[in-house]
Amino acid sequence: MLDQIKGLHHVTSMAADARQNNAFFTHGLGLRRVKKTVNFDAPDVYHLYYADEFGTPGSVMTYFPFPHIGKGRPGIGEVGTTVFSVPEGTLDYWERRFAEQGVSGLSREDRFGERRLAFSGPDGDGFALVEDKADKRAPWLKGGVPADEAIRGFHSVSLRLKDGGATEELLKFMGYEEIERQGNLRRLAVANGNGAGIIDIETLPGARLAGLGAGSVHHVAFAVEDRARQLEVRKALMDTGYQVTPVIDRDYFWAIYFRTPGGVLFEVATNEPGFDRDEDTAHLGEALKLPVQHAHLRPYLEQHLQPLED
Ligand code: ZN
Repeated sequence: MLDQIKGLHHVTSMAADARQNNAFFTHGLGLRRVKKTVNFDAPDVYHLYYADEFGTPGSVMTYFPFPHIGKGRPGIGEVGTTVFSVPEGTLDYWERRFAEQGVSGLSREDRFGERRLAFSGPDGDGFALVEDKADKRAPWLKGGVPADEAIRGFHSVSLRLKDGGATEELLKFMGYEEIERQGNLRRLAVANGNGAGIIDIETLPGARLAGLGAGSVHHVAFAVEDRARQLEVRKALMDTGYQVTPVIDRDYFWAIYFRTPGGVLFEVATNEPGFDRDEDTAHLGEALKLPVQHAHLRPYLEQHLQPLED
């Protein structure tokens, strides 16, 4: 069993409208936009990163807003719900805030004894807030949400699968252990995690396959400290029979990707070098940042990309 993985690093999803997406995650959820760059594989599309003050791994929600993309179709083989952690006793605040903002899909639930508030993102994205009194991570304080209520980072993601077994085995190989089960739900957690150490697996044998589109999670990334540990994980996965990409430079982290038995795309990303690699912490996310291979496109992209509010 591996011990290099410390929880989630980031979750990356698809959106239809960059301005709406930006407004929802900054003004709605009170997260900080920590990077405004482009999709390295499709540079005429933004890659927007929302997180805590520093873009700490385990707090980073990222989006590819593709104009005119069709809506995703929820189903199996994907991340169904991305869950953020908030302080104990704050769901009433969030429910009022969301109602005032016209956020849809609001519903209260209990899962594994935790209070949660489900809500939908601008493209029907499946989200929830969970009250976690043990979460000591510091929130972003300038997002318009009071410090006592603000989001601390990810709590977990919930994978929706036809048959959770093989993915559960994979997660155990990656260092996760089952800590609870309830009906068709399995909860796994990684020891000594970064605060975003939980994965839920929801088994839905009869459900239809998910269709990727706006509101869908594209992939979920797990955090390792550095490149040496990433190579250890890559080798172990390949020795077990997984097809893993070479290490790819994403400027703010190094990435490897592999498809899991249940259909979800996993990434393993390094905590190094981080989002302050090319701009001061005080000004993260303000300027359009381009990777060196796309720097020559700047005049075109500055004309073409939708301007975003700060
Ligand atoms: Zn990623």
